[in-house]
Amino acid sequence: GARAAAPRGSWSSESSASSSCWEHRVVLLGDPGVGKTSLANAFAGIQERDLLEQHGGGCCVAGRGSLSSVTPGEESWRRSQCLQVGNAYVIVYSITDRSSFESASELRIHLRRARQAEDIPIILVGNKSDLVRCREVSIEEGRACAVVFDCKFIETSAALQHNVDELFEGVVRQLRLRREGKEP
Ligand code: GDP
Repeated sequence: GARAAAPRGSWSSESSASSSCWEHRVVLLGDPGVGKTSLANAFAGIQERDLLEQHGGGCCVAGRGSLSSVTPGEESWRRSQCLQVGNAYVIVYSITDRSSFESASELRIHLRRARQAEDIPIILVGNKSDLVRCREVSIEEGRACAVVFDCKFIETSAALQHNVDELFEGVVRQLRLRREGKEP
């Protein structure tokens, strides 16, 4: 039934940082409106996305895994799915929205709980860095949060395509390091 389908809003994308298609699923988590879809689109490009969807590409960037908007029932099923399926996680908040920053910490805790024993790459992302006048979360706060949660940190602007490539290259690098670390 519908519940067995892939999470809505998930798609595939070939990494510009990798010569072969990723075998990895990167899940973007964060409050609604923080820019998950924009980030993934900025990275993937619509055409590439459609192409890979058709081929059922082996690599995936799944979006809209928002935790704060989920309610019991199907939504919580979707939430736990999102927390289980990723090989890497991008936790996104908006630098213009303090509550989304607080949600990011919650997401990190949920993720830790769901994947306790695993060493999964996680990157904390402060998006909308172009909206300097509306900033509610400083870059220092973002960095400090990443230290506490033991993950990487980057500020991006999906609107200006600033640091978007760096973000996804960072994800790929971390996935690679872990894969190479595991193989003899
Ligand atoms: P999602 O709900 O997390 O997937 O967020 P969306 O990607 O749909 O973005 C929500 C709104 O924020 C849209 O109107 C986007 O155009 C806008 N937005 C996303 N990223 C940025 C950014 O980096 N800068 C600015 N100024 N707006 C952005």
